[in-house]
Amino acid sequence: MTIDFLKRELSTVLSKKRYEHSIRVLDTALNLGTIYDGDLNKIAIAAILHDYAKELKRDELIKIASEHFKLETQDYISNVEILHSYASAYIAKERFKIEDTEILDAIKYHTTGRKNMTLTEKIVYIADAIEPKREYPHVEKIRDLALVDLNEAILLEVNKKIEYLIKHEFIIHINSIEMRNWLLKIS
Ligand code: FE
Ligand code: FE
Repeated sequence: MTIDFLKRELSTVLSKKRYEHSIRVLDTALNLGTIYDGDLNKIAIAAILHDYAKELKRDELIKIASEHFKLETQDYISNVEILHSYASAYIAKERFKIEDTEILDAIKYHTTGRKNMTLTEKIVYIADAIEPKREYPHVEKIRDLALVDLNEAILLEVNKKIEYLIKHEFIIHINSIEMRNWLLKIS
């Protein structure tokens, strides 16, 4: 299965805006993959498919999550922003027959992160947050850090994200807190 094939498939399910975001995440992830000597094939597949389910309807997302990721998603079932990651991983496995756990996990945890992430997971997670069109306070600093220290970049990103979530009284996923604590411990 080639990246061009997956790009074409993606273009049939996403709006132009979201498709182009995915292409920028792919480019960003491949650049980081080169810097950190990652598995570029795995990184490319995970990056291109990470938002595949982003435009599924709310009830479809809830159905996939509650049928296939029941325990992991039951506390977050009303949070569609989190569910699209699980649904994208599900479709990668079912429709595109991707069995590689590293690829599937990088898709599944791209929104929340988690503790003990693999290099592929870290790269897809941070590439999604720093692709060139992302704009939020401190993104330039996070972008620069990502080129020299992936863990420090993710730590700064998650700190800023948690500050934002608290300010707006949004739910914080437990995986994001565990990722932060893990990064504090290892850095
Ligand atoms: Fe996403
Ligand atoms: Fe994304």
